[in-house]
Amino acid sequence: MPVSPLAAVAIALVVGLCVGSFLNVVIHRLPKMMERDWRAQCAEMRGEPVPREDPPTYNLAVPRSACPACGHRIGVLENVPVASWLALRGRCSACGKPIALRYPLVEALGGLLAAYAIWRFGATWKGLGACVMLWTLVALTFIDFDTQYLPDNLTLPLLWAGLIANLFGVFVPLADAVVGAVAGYLALWVVYWVFKLVRGKEGMGYGDFKLLAALGAWLGWQMLPLIVLLSSVVGAGIGLMLIAFKGRDHRVPLAFGPYLAIAGGVALFFGPALVRGFYP
Ligand SMILES: [Zn+2]
Repeated sequence: MPVSPLAAVAIALVVGLCVGSFLNVVIHRLPKMMERDWRAQCAEMRGEPVPREDPPTYNLAVPRSACPACGHRIGVLENVPVASWLALRGRCSACGKPIALRYPLVEALGGLLAAYAIWRFGATWKGLGACVMLWTLVALTFIDFDTQYLPDNLTLPLLWAGLIANLFGVFVPLADAVVGAVAGYLALWVVYWVFKLVRGKEGMGYGDFKLLAALGAWLGWQMLPLIVLLSSVVGAGIGLMLIAFKGRDHRVPLAFGPYLAIAGGVALFFGPALVRGFYP
């Protein structure tokens, strides 16, 4: 039975809000899980016993979510995306400490981006693929902003998923996707080495190459110049805003990943129209 377009958008919004709630967990825990892995590997290489961690089990499912201030377990009713935060007026129900605005913001982003993707592309493989890509980009944006890392556990599956989607030509022909992945990686790799040889310092990391490769795999090589241009514009704009409003030291390097991710999302929706505007 075909679903009416409006019903599909509504379903995408609700599912997206719940995925957004899970993205909060990924953003918060994935970097900590990676650090635990590294500590364990270092200990193993030095021939030492694996360090004891507290809590002993720590992954995306265990332990249950709790208030960072008082440890109060977050119940089902306190875990309704966005609505719970509003109902609790942004405070923990047990200790009254503020809950960061970021949590409902990420949930709302997950829902609104999914709803917009389904509205634009319909309840199709393209719509579903766009949701998966956008959700992953949201997680990468916040993790890179927090930690300056773009975890391989996210960038590499994103790359493979783009290639698999385009194996069936969901976004672009497979050849454009493969060339996009290779060219995306190489383009930033070249910039990295030129920058390093000329200036003697590193302007970005390998995670950025993998992220641009993933975007090329989803959107095709034709979108790469636009993505790089857009990310520079977004980066310069946000950088200037941070310096102007927060007095952020302009010598502190800003993570490049968030700008690439935002530019990738913009290119997903508006890239074809923008590229046609550039080359009429
Ligand atoms: Zn609390």
